[in-house]
Amino acid sequence: MKNCLICHGDVSSSFGWGAFLGLHKPNPVCEECERAFQKITGELCRICGREWEMVAPENRRKDLCSDCFRWEEDQSTAGLLQQNRSVYHYNDHMKDVLAKYKFRGDAVLAQVFRKAFLQSFETTWSKNLPIFVPIPLSADRTYERGFNQSLFLAELLPGTPEELLFKSNSEKQSKKARKERMERENSFYVPDPEPVKGKSILLIDDIYTTGTTLRMAAKVLRDAGAKDISSFTLVRS
Ligand SMILES: [Zn+2]
Ligand SMILES: [Zn+2]
Repeated sequence: MKNCLICHGDVSSSFGWGAFLGLHKPNPVCEECERAFQKITGELCRICGREWEMVAPENRRKDLCSDCFRWEEDQSTAGLLQQNRSVYHYNDHMKDVLAKYKFRGDAVLAQVFRKAFLQSFETTWSKNLPIFVPIPLSADRTYERGFNQSLFLAELLPGTPEELLFKSNSEKQSKKARKERMERENSFYVPDPEPVKGKSILLIDDIYTTGTTLRMAAKVLRDAGAKDISSFTLVRS
């Protein structure tokens, strides 16, 4: 008897002879939980990877959503993030699972997403492998939580994540205009620019929401000499 990592229901009904003989690993989640995750498919906003069908017609600017259009219009943030791609939509099921995964310290839940995360990565970044840089937590947050979920995700990819980016403890999240936040509240830093110089960086995070965090991270990496910066997240809200 084996239990689903999410609902703890029995998954042994999906076992066949292959699993019995050790030919393949049993699924870490039951079919029902698996089906409740919703993958992002079809046409996407060229930069943020939002599913095009979910962008209201009045928010479309050629191949960009109006959010990305604004980032690109602003000289201080234009081109900071080449592209973001995400695997899943942020539906209710995902919200529940992520809340558990983030706050309960269930590193094992990373295993739930391993296959889909890897597959999605390979369809977008198959040729030139970038350097994987997980979005860091500050030292205080890491201590509180005991782990960094972005690092777990980065570890699912083919290569070794490089922790080249750090975050200071002063986390002043506020509702200020994003431009102001970008400039004044960027607590990311690159302690050693040498391994960043001229490199293609792929930032790894659990979720792309407004894109501000990823662009703050991209900004300090670009200032440290990175060639280009993209991001890959598990979820696009
Ligand atoms: Zn389940
Ligand atoms: Zn967009």
